Amino acid sequence: MILTLQPVGHVASSVLERLRVQLERFGDVRIADPKPVPKQAFRPLSKQYRAAAFEEVCHAAESDRVVAITDVELCDPDLGMKRVFGHAEMTGGWAVVSLSMFGGDGEERLVERAAKTAVHEIGHTLGLGHHDGNPECVMFFSENLADTDRKGRDFCPTCAQTANLTLSRLER
Ligand SMILES: [Zn+2]
Ligand SMILES: [Zn+2]
Repeated sequence: MILTLQPVGHVASSVLERLRVQLERFGDVRIADPKPVPKQAFRPLSKQYRAAAFEEVCHAAESDRVVAITDVELCDPDLGMKRVFGHAEMTGGWAVVSLSMFGGDGEERLVERAAKTAVHEIGHTLGLGHHDGNPECVMFFSENLADTDRKGRDFCPTCAQTANLTLSRLER
């Protein structure tokens, strides 16, 4: 499939390039020109951005999936506006990943956490739900950084089966 990484706000090009390489297993991964953070997503009280509002920056010609990569903090209305690392619209074919909490331990760790989160969110767009019975599976729901650091960057065999079914339909 064609996957577009859409930088939103300030994202280092070195991070984007390393992330692109990590996601190449999904197909042709392209990096779009940066877009500004959608203003109407801002929640003044929490100073976070509503993840669902990133839909408007997640359009790319010819792409099967678009993943926005942003430096701002995200919250999710479906989770009572709690802070989230990422968000995906299962039917919309797009997702957003926030780097805001990932950078405390250097770029290597930041890219690793971002890659796991991106694979997780892409998994949702491929039809996968959370796999909370398997803390090693990338589809385990990360409530905090420790969850993200512990889990692997791959789908478990069960999740991979479902993901590959969707991916095979997107092959061109
Ligand atoms: Zn999830
Ligand atoms: Zn799984």
